[in-house]
Formats: sequence, structure tokens, C-alpha cells
Amino acid sequence: MFVMNYKSTRDVKVNVPSAYAISQGLSSDGGLFVPENLPKLSEEKIMSLCDMSYAERAYEIFRLFLTDFTDDEIKHCVNGAYNDKNFATDNIAEISHLIPGTYILELWHGPTCAFKDMALQILPYLLTTSAKKTIDGKKISILVATSGDTGKAALEGFKDVDGTSIMVFYPEDGVSNMQKRQMTTQEGSNVNVCAVVGNFDDCQSGVKQIFTDKSVIAQLEKANTVFSSANSINWGRLAPQIIYYVSSYVQLVKDGELKYGEKLNVVVPTGNFGNILAAYYAKQMGIPIGKLICASNANNVLTDFINTGIYDRNRKFYTTVSPSMDILISSNLERLLYHLTGENDKLINEWFTALKNDGRYEVNDSVKAAIKENFYAGCCDDEQTKGAIKEVFDEYSYLMDTHTAVAYKVYEDYKKKTGDNTKTLIASTANPYKFGFAVYDALGGETEGVDEFELIGKLEKLTKTTCPKALSDTKNKPVRFTGSIKPEEMAEAVLEFINK
Ligand SMILES: *Cc1c(COP(=O)(O)O)cnc(C)c1O
Repeated sequence: MFVMNYKSTRDVKVNVPSAYAISQGLSSDGGLFVPENLPKLSEEKIMSLCDMSYAERAYEIFRLFLTDFTDDEIKHCVNGAYNDKNFATDNIAEISHLIPGTYILELWHGPTCAFKDMALQILPYLLTTSAKKTIDGKKISILVATSGDTGKAALEGFKDVDGTSIMVFYPEDGVSNMQKRQMTTQEGSNVNVCAVVGNFDDCQSGVKQIFTDKSVIAQLEKANTVFSSANSINWGRLAPQIIYYVSSYVQLVKDGELKYGEKLNVVVPTGNFGNILAAYYAKQMGIPIGKLICASNANNVLTDFINTGIYDRNRKFYTTVSPSMDILISSNLERLLYHLTGENDKLINEWFTALKNDGRYEVNDSVKAAIKENFYAGCCDDEQTKGAIKEVFDEYSYLMDTHTAVAYKVYEDYKKKTGDNTKTLIASTANPYKFGFAVYDALGGETEGVDEFELIGKLEKLTKTTCPKALSDTKNKPVRFTGSIKPEEMAEAVLEFINK
């Protein structure tokens, strides 16, 4: 029987089954878990997915990656996550055909209206199933650093899941009002939410430090608890994202939009590089994907990297209208580089030590060439983002959120620059009402003195669209979490929560 194991990007000698990779989150050498090879999908296999539901397609793909799970366990996971109770559409990932030749993949029909739900609805199932196999009897404590959407989606996925607790850290001034409201009103007996005086990178480094802090881990052991991560460094976050790229291609073939084998470009508004890496994996597995177009906002560290091969985080950090992409360190890039160097863990250690010490590294020529072959990168500022929202709404009556708008604008620039008119899928990563202020402002509305709930009414009226109930309902929920701490107080806050 086919067995898939996972390696660490920092040590190729690591060789573990998926349950271990998922329950551990991060390898103890600081590396990320990566599949030892990518399963290949034949044309016959891809076409056989046409008449399946999203959950059935997910089952077929997960079987290739989670070879230490039984078929029943995988069914339990996919059916628990991808159903019409959790998602507002039967298709789970809906494709809008409003713009000819440019398909918008709406990844935000889950309970928190952001694409993170695609993975975080299934992660608790993957994680508790994995934990049974590897660390039976121990409690799992999930720590999350979030730039907004992950936090809420993780809280919603893990709330009241037996044997788990979850603590979320977000940058105090780095998330939208609606994102903050969604998190601070979170229900559930095993959840905690904490604002940090700092930016997303402070939250992320804080969590990474806690994971390897020996004194914290010792205290955790006393509480019979282990840490795990719901950030996109966890393989259990990435694997589910491959599925919607496979499923979208299959769906477009089924709908007669593509002939099998015809290339499809993919545009992804990128932050931590998880979503676009999943598209790369789908391409490596045999899905006919053309260019992978990496779109950034003013925090354009990835644009520069893809264009020059130099990753340099020593630059100004901008707070933008697309806050989920306000990131200077894109963790999942490490996985791509591991594959593109031919699994050279020495080089990965060298580069990521340099990143840690100097904030900078430069990849070699063969990696530069491999990146150019697969990827294109571009960026835009807030004014251009808002301009794209208005343009698309005026022309197609389609309302995009700010992150999707960054992708749209970068794609427009790509087409002008290259003349490439290949059919294209744009990953739409959030419902527009999550970023209502910027969206309303983009359409020419006056936001001065308007609160987030008044705004919903105004945006509904102006655009004749409806705000999802999950967002409007936060108005009537009590705020449960009001604390804010300094980055150096994060470990203490975690211990307090666990020992509570
Ligand atoms: C997380 C997020 C992104 C960035 O996705 P990555 O996988 O981190 O690159 C983009 N848009 C929205 C709305 C998000 O929540």
C-alpha cells in the first residue's frame, strides 16, 4: 500500500506519518513539515471527480496525503467539516462567472465569512484524529497568532471541541473593527482572545517562542497538555487548501468552461504564502494550472522576492485596507524553497538563519529560475485597491472585498504587461462586509462617524447586497474579551489560561 510520510524543511532525516506532522504542527528543529513526494493525479482520476460533491472530492485527495488515517476517519473529517450546516452554499467553494474568462473563487461561504474556514472547519477533526494516534490522553492547547481572519476561523472551528483549548493573539490596531468584534464576542468554554500591543509579526514571533520555551513546556507537561498550531504552518491547514484548487478545475471542466488539459492561471492575494502554495501543490499534482500570480499590498516583500530572488524584511511595515496581508515574513515560502532546492535542508537552514539574524537572504540562480517559471508577482496600494472595487462594481455589479481587489488589480496589470489571456481563477478570500468601511469608502460612501453596524445597512442599500448573518449578528453578542498585553507578556498569559 502507498504510504505518505512527511519531512522537515530543516532536516531531511525527519520522516513521520501525517498524524504526527499534524499534531506536532512544527518540527522540533524549527522546520515545517512537507510531504516527501506529491501524489500525481491522472486525467482519469481528475475526471472521475467531476460528478462528486466537494466533501467526496476532499475525501479522494485526503486519502493520498493521510495514508495513516483509515477511510472511515477521513470520511468522518470531511463530512463533519464540508456540509450545509457549516457552509452557506452546497458547493462549499462557489465560483462566480460574472466576469467573462475571469472566475472568482469565493472561498468565504463558511461560518466566519473568510477563506480560512476552508481549512479551519476541518482542522479540529484532523487534529483530534491525529492526536488519538500519537498523544492519546493528552489535552491539546492551540495557540494562534492572527492578522484577523485566522483567529476567528480557528475559534469557530475549535470552540467546545473536547480535549482542546484555544488562545488567540491579534495585533491591537492591526485588524478591522468587524474582525475585532467577531473575535471578542466569541462563544465557547475553551476559548481565550488577547490583543497584543504590536503588529502581526510580533504576535507570530511571540507564539513561535512560546512553542520552544523549555520552562513553558515543562509547566504544560504538568497540566498533561501539548501545544499545537492552527496557523498555516500546520500541514493540517495546507492540505485542505489544495482541495479547492483541484475542485475548481474539475468544476470548470464540468461546467463546460474549460476543456480538460486547458491551462488555468491562478491569482492569489497573498500573506503567509499558504494559499498560493496550495495552488502550487495542486499544479505539481497534475492539475493544469498555468501561472501562479502572487498579489501583495504595500507590504510587497514577496513581490520583490519573486522578482529578484532577494528576501528582505528590513523595510517599513504598512497598515493597509487589506490587513490579512500585512505581513513581512511569509512562513510558507520555506516549504516552496525546500522543494525548489531539491530538498536541500542545508540551504534552507542557511537562508532562514540569515533571515532570523539579518532579516535577509538571497536564493541561488536555479531557485530564481524555478520561481520565475511558475510565479508572477505584483502589488498595489490602497488607492488602487479601492479603485478596483469601484471599477468591478460599476462594470459587473460584483462586490469584492479589499483582499480580492488587490488580486484583481495585480491581475489586470499582469494582463496588460504580458498579454496573457489564459482563463484565470482569482481566489476571493473574504466577504466584502468583513472590510465594510474600506469597501463603502471605495464606492464613494461617507464613513466619517459611522459605526460598523450602521455601515452594514448603508452598504446593503448602496449595493443591493446582503450582509451575512454571521457578521450582522455580532451586534447583539456580548463582548467577552477586552484585555491587551505586551508581546513579552504572551507566555505568562498562556500559562494563566492553561492553568485556569
Ligand atoms: C489569510 C488571508 C490572506 C492571505 O492568505 P495566505 O495563505 O496567508 O497567503 C488573504 N486574504 C484574506 C482575507 C485572508 O484572511
